[in-house]
Amino acid sequence: MATRRESVQYRIVPVDPALHLFEVTLTIVKPASEGQQVSLPAWIPGSYMIREFARNIVSISARCEGRKVRLTKLDKHTWQAAPCKGELQIQYRVYAWDLSVRAAHLDQTHGFFNGTSVFLKVHGKEALPHIVDIQPPEGDAYAAWRVATSLPEHKARRHRFGTYIAGDYDELIDHPVEMGEFELIRFDAHGVPHEMAITGRVPRLDKARLAADLKKICEAQIAFFEPASRAAPMDRYVFLTLAVGDGYGGLEHRASTALICARNDLPVIGQAEMSDAYRGFLGLCSHEYFHTWNVKRIKPAVFAPYDLSQENYTTLLWLFEGFTSYYDDLMLLRSGVIDSSAYLKLIEKTINNVQRGSGRLKQSVAESSFDAWTKYYRQDENAPNAIVSYYAKGSLVALLLDLVIRRDTKGRRSLDDVMRALWRRYGRDFYSAKGGRGVSEPEVEALFDEITGLTLKPVFDLAVRGTRDLPLAEALAGFGIALTDRRTGAAPSMAVRTQRDGSDCKLGAVHQGGAAHKAGLSAGDVLVAIDGLRVTSGNLDGLLKRYRVGDTISVHAFRRDELMQWDLTLEPDAASQSVLEPREKPMTAVKLRNSWLRSQK
Ligand code: ZN
Repeated sequence: MATRRESVQYRIVPVDPALHLFEVTLTIVKPASEGQQVSLPAWIPGSYMIREFARNIVSISARCEGRKVRLTKLDKHTWQAAPCKGELQIQYRVYAWDLSVRAAHLDQTHGFFNGTSVFLKVHGKEALPHIVDIQPPEGDAYAAWRVATSLPEHKARRHRFGTYIAGDYDELIDHPVEMGEFELIRFDAHGVPHEMAITGRVPRLDKARLAADLKKICEAQIAFFEPASRAAPMDRYVFLTLAVGDGYGGLEHRASTALICARNDLPVIGQAEMSDAYRGFLGLCSHEYFHTWNVKRIKPAVFAPYDLSQENYTTLLWLFEGFTSYYDDLMLLRSGVIDSSAYLKLIEKTINNVQRGSGRLKQSVAESSFDAWTKYYRQDENAPNAIVSYYAKGSLVALLLDLVIRRDTKGRRSLDDVMRALWRRYGRDFYSAKGGRGVSEPEVEALFDEITGLTLKPVFDLAVRGTRDLPLAEALAGFGIALTDRRTGAAPSMAVRTQRDGSDCKLGAVHQGGAAHKAGLSAGDVLVAIDGLRVTSGNLDGLLKRYRVGDTISVHAFRRDELMQWDLTLEPDAASQSVLEPREKPMTAVKLRNSWLRSQK
């Protein structure tokens, strides 16, 4: 039992929803005698960028035994209270107006927060139990509000306001909280209760279909990591979903995930087909759920524990994000939510995605991981020409390794065996009493060789530390899948990424070596006309369809406010060049393919 003396206590109230303010009262019964320090994290685990959440604290004050005491700010996110010989209380207000999964958001329709945005860390007391009293806004308008979170209840009843408890600060900030009038979907996965709380108006939501599909995906993943016991690593799991007009994002936690999606991604009663949008949403759920094992428990050593005051550098995000991206779609297939031809289309899309950017020839996925803080998370118009995604290319690295292992062990071993070994050795006991220490970079590669009996260093040198294109055509051929380049027949393209700017069509990125680059266009240029016909944000593709690859067009565009003209020769669209086609022989290849795409073993 946690007594008052032994815990750190918070009370959080949405004090002014219209002004987007949470008020937090932090009580420290026995503050540090030299003056208690407190700080707010600079980043949130899973999203590798310095966000300086303390910038949203709009007022803060401290009281010792009820009397106001000085609070000195030591740096951008740390405060120190004057020495206090009794109970210290720190009260502060947090501005919550970030409609994302990474921070906090509050208005009259709902409240959402991550602990990293609202709970000051009490230095030296991180390992104590942390108790939070979560309260609704005042007024009848909020009488129907409920609470959804995976944070364990202390004295509150499930879905009610009241006190919740975490074993330590690290746990406290790993359970986001949603409050409002959400829809609840519930299902069990291998005996463990799961739920999804959906906030936002979603007319005619097909709750039964969503629950059935999620159950299949969650059960496939639990059985993947623990084929014998089918034991899930958590007692309970919560998907917190915010449905908006247009949005996409997810952030993983140890027993929950926060998601944001477009309303139209969610299934409607009476529509049975698998739309791209719904499949994308299930893929997002599958991705964040897979993180329950891969990154929340199997972790890079530098994340055990996290240092939330500054960047934590690792070269391993290709493993934690890339492999998770590989398995998110594969789990849709293995759980029966999609079929193998839909799965091959998803791989095809990823290959084309990676091929489009010349940044892949300059940055390895290990470098992309290390520089996530300043490059992947802070992309500008030059990103496609300078960086590679450790998500997209990382998932192709997983694909290559899986295929190589299966081929070279004649189907006896696979990437699945390596993931399960990582789980058993580094993940399973991470939150147990003895605690986990994470996995180091050399240990990852050593484990691959140990489990497969192969020497995979050349593959890691090429795929993880190298910038040459992956030999996927050769690897896929061994599985009876032809990867062909369809430059002829591809749609004509300017090799740009466009941005809607009102009704204007603005160039968001110009791909190095592509048609627009050769012609002299630049990111930021606003297209005006092609061969004298007006270009708008909605009609560029339609206009280009009238031409063939190799045709030269006259392009008018504004650079800043100066009208300019270029001649541009259209090229085949890189986004549609690579095509995957299954073949029905040779039989050895077909057998390998079937065991890859179907097996749980
Ligand atoms: Zn992820």
